Amino acid sequence: MAFKQLHIALIASPGIGHLAPLLSLGHRLATTHNLRATVLAVTTTVSPAITQLLTSLTTTNLSVIQIPAADISAVIPPDAKIVTQLCIMMRETVPAIRSTISTMASGPHALIGDIFSTDSWLIAEELGIPKYVLVTGNAWFTSLFIYSPVLDKQVVGQYVDQKEPLEIPGCKSVLPEDVVDPMLNRDDETYGVYLAQSVGVTLADGVLINSWEDLEPQSLDALRNNEVLRSVIRCKPVYTVGPVIKGYEPDGAERSGVKNKVIEWLDKQPNRSVIYVSFGSGGTISVEQMKELACGLELSHQRFVWVVRTPSGQVSDGSFLKTGQSSGLDGPCGYLPEGFLGRTEKIGLVVPSWAPQVEILNHVSVAGFLTHCGWNSTLESIMSGVPMIAWPLYAEQKMNATMLTEVLEVAVRPAALPTVKVVGREEVAKMVVDLVEGEKGKTMKMKGDMLKESGNKAISENGSSYVSICKFIEDCWSRCH
Ligand code: UDP
Repeated sequence: MAFKQLHIALIASPGIGHLAPLLSLGHRLATTHNLRATVLAVTTTVSPAITQLLTSLTTTNLSVIQIPAADISAVIPPDAKIVTQLCIMMRETVPAIRSTISTMASGPHALIGDIFSTDSWLIAEELGIPKYVLVTGNAWFTSLFIYSPVLDKQVVGQYVDQKEPLEIPGCKSVLPEDVVDPMLNRDDETYGVYLAQSVGVTLADGVLINSWEDLEPQSLDALRNNEVLRSVIRCKPVYTVGPVIKGYEPDGAERSGVKNKVIEWLDKQPNRSVIYVSFGSGGTISVEQMKELACGLELSHQRFVWVVRTPSGQVSDGSFLKTGQSSGLDGPCGYLPEGFLGRTEKIGLVVPSWAPQVEILNHVSVAGFLTHCGWNSTLESIMSGVPMIAWPLYAEQKMNATMLTEVLEVAVRPAALPTVKVVGREEVAKMVVDLVEGEKGKTMKMKGDMLKESGNKAISENGSSYVSICKFIEDCWSRCH
């Protein structure tokens, strides 16, 4: 192939947690590394949050094309688990992705897809171009993910019933109660979908991970050098590209520009006094938990910004595919304790459904983040130097919470989770006070600042992720020439 500028197409499956890192990586390739990048954003909804995200990163070398996700209502039941929905949706959308790619004037010369996009490897094979996977989670999760087909053969019974942690060669072992959602029930069809997805990922020509060397030395070393893991990953090269997070570039520039009413409110609060509470793009908690959380915030007497979403019958990922849409209720009054909004109006701000998270986390008034530990939220918090209260809900978030509390030591976690279903108000209040005012909060802040610095170093010129992206680009060139 004779061309001067490498053109890479990045395929993002639905959900802002997938779209945001693919888009940010596309932006980094187009700006820092001067490639052409086209992001193919497969979407189920066009919410204001998605539109804002799609239009926020404009630069000459970067194009974004939205592709409506295929209608899968006739293929799987509407209550199928999210992993099944995403995999089938992405499989059924392959023809639309293929046809979009076929209209491109030049290239693409390589594909990058997330872990739900592996059916698109077929398109790369038809075009004779290399294909790479971007794991939007961390390296420890990647290790469990690719090793799951082996665990499937080794482990008898349900993973959650095991007495011993699950051993992953060369990595920190995984507590049975921390396994990712699709591993919770091996009899569920989602488990089979997950195992197939794991194999699909290892068929890529290389694995890109949204992490960096200093953050996860052990898991990254295992993925590259442990014999067993290497054979499972079919000796594919592993590239660290992180942190890639939305609205954040090596120069530290925040791109949104618009002053939101939350930011105006934060401007009036003292430095490092506010706890930001959000369960990501899709997390919902139970009615009972919402009440305890509200009472706990009130009891703490600390300032807070809380992004609330309509509660569900249970902890869930129910809003994941409806990113940033309004809750459908008449505002939060409908499900918060009576009088809560009035009693806390001087110290708290309740925001329905959606808030500009990266801007909030970077605000000087913010002292801590009560988070569901989605990997994007985790990285956004780390890159703002903000310590966390880890409150995992679904997907691989329990592993992330364990990593944040036990390995990186930048978060505390409710002692009561996961053994009880509801964390009581006293525990909520204690964690919030400790984080904002306590010694533990100060220590975590110091560790958080060090991690932030190491993340910045990784993506700066000649940093580990910068160099790794250069190696990935070299690999692309060598495979397409
Ligand atoms: N997000 C946001 N405002 C909100 C909720 C979420 O901007 O009110 C963004 C957040 O900054 C992050 C993404 O949505 O980039 C959520 O991704 P994450 O991996 O943390 O969790 P997921 O929603 O995928 O579970």
